[in-house]
Amino acid sequence: MVTSREISKVFSLLEPSHQPTMLEQLKEYTHFQLLVATLLSARTKDTTIIPIVKRLFQKYPQPHDLAKADIKALEQELFKSGFYRAKARHVKALSTIVHEQYHDQIPQDFTQLIALPGVGRKTANCILNYAFHQSAIAVDIHVHRISNRLGWVKTKTPEGTEEALQKIVPRELWNKVNMLLVDHGQRICLPRKPQCGSCAVRGYCKYGKKNV
Ligand code: SF4
Repeated sequence: MVTSREISKVFSLLEPSHQPTMLEQLKEYTHFQLLVATLLSARTKDTTIIPIVKRLFQKYPQPHDLAKADIKALEQELFKSGFYRAKARHVKALSTIVHEQYHDQIPQDFTQLIALPGVGRKTANCILNYAFHQSAIAVDIHVHRISNRLGWVKTKTPEGTEEALQKIVPRELWNKVNMLLVDHGQRICLPRKPQCGSCAVRGYCKYGKKNV
């Protein structure tokens, strides 16, 4: 089983070349806007979603602006992102709840976050992590894939990975998991062709040691 020391070493090797993830790039945005941006980023590349998010919040900066937005106009704004119809519906419904029930402030609580339309475990954990700086491990496809390739976990689903990582990653490092592994997964540890030959953590990776 991987040790805390090895996990810490992998993070220290990834940190020097780290490039900001979408939520780091949007860190000046409000908590509500970060929540909407995370929801919209599902199954869409950061380079596609960032300009969409910036345009959206220029037109609709506050929860009540999105709550009263025309659904067809919202769909048009989100057209280039995947599943734009469902995302438009979720954003409108979520904004209405945040405006009416939470007085424009999104909740800081995991259970309340995942009760919002379109918000799953990954999105809720991202918001606790990036917006509220609480300890949380947000597991998306990159975190799930890389944790398995590294040999840290042996899991079939992101939910299983989240649970397994919580047991092995020291709590003070939880907030680095998403930040470092998402970036690594977007640039080096690619889904189909991982660039193991130029990977800083190959010496600590089960897949890299076996396949290169
Ligand atoms: S060695 Fe290869 S599989 Fe392992 S983390 Fe690096 S790129 Fe991914």
